[in-house]
Amino acid sequence: MAKLNQWSRHTDRLIRKGFDLFCPPVCTYCGKQTKNKHDLCVDCAAKYLHERQMCCPKCGQTVEFCSCGCDFRRISKTTVGGKTHLSLTYYTGAQNASDAGRISEQMILHLKDKGTFARFFADQLCDEIERLFKHSEYLLDDWILTYPPRSVHNFIKYGLDQSEEVTKYMAKRLGIPCRRTFVKLEGEEQKLLTMEERLINASDTLVPRQKVIRKGGKYLLFDDIITSGATVMAASWHLYANGAAEVFPISIARTLPKE
Ligand SMILES: [Zn+2]
Ligand SMILES: [Zn+2]
Repeated sequence: MAKLNQWSRHTDRLIRKGFDLFCPPVCTYCGKQTKNKHDLCVDCAAKYLHERQMCCPKCGQTVEFCSCGCDFRRISKTTVGGKTHLSLTYYTGAQNASDAGRISEQMILHLKDKGTFARFFADQLCDEIERLFKHSEYLLDDWILTYPPRSVHNFIKYGLDQSEEVTKYMAKRLGIPCRRTFVKLEGEEQKLLTMEERLINASDTLVPRQKVIRKGGKYLLFDDIITSGATVMAASWHLYANGAAEVFPISIARTLPKE
C-alpha cells in the first residue's frame, strides 16, 4: 500500500512537472512567467506587500494600528486579539497620481469585475484572522462568515458577487459556515450621498434575513472595501438587532484617511 502511495505521488509530481513545462505558471496580475506557485510573481508580490505597509497621513501608522475615520466601530463592541476590525490595506481610489499604479487597488477592481484574486485575498485575510484568533479568548470554530451582498443590478451586470466569492474560499479554508444573512434592495448610489444619508440608505436597502441570523451568533462580517463605513455599520446594527452576540468587520481595504 505504502509503495502504491509513493508511486502515485511520484506520478503526480511528474504530471505536474510536465504540465508546468508546457504551460508554465504566469503571474495573474502582470502575466509574466513565474516560478512562484502563488498568484503573483515575485516582483508583484513584493509591490503588494510594500503597499500593505502604507502609512496613514493623519496618524502615521499602518492600517493595522490606525483607527482614524473608523466610525463604524461605534456599533460593534467586539474585539478579537485586541483589534476591533481587520483591513489588509488602504484604498486611495488613486486620487493622487503617485497612487495610480497601486497593485492592490487594481487587484480589487479585477475582483469586483471578474472575481479574479478571490482566493488570493481570502488566503491573505485567513492568515490575519488565524493570527488574531490565536491571541484571543475566542474559538474560530464558533464563528460564522457573512457579508452585505451586491445589489441585484450589479450582480446581473458583473455576473458575480465578489464578497460571496471571497467568503466562499474563506469558509472552506477556516472550516466555518458562510451564511447569506441579508438581501440587498436597490437604493441611491452611495457615492452621491452625505454620510448621514449613506447610513439611512445603507440601513434601508439592507434587509436582514431574520430566520437565518443565529441568536447569540458570532459573525465575521466581510465587505471588500470599507469606504464611509455606512454599509458595515448598517449590517452590524441589523445583526445585533436580530440577536447576534458578536460582529467583527473584516475588509480587504479601507479608505485612506485624509490629512
Ligand atoms: Zn507579476
Ligand atoms: Zn490613522
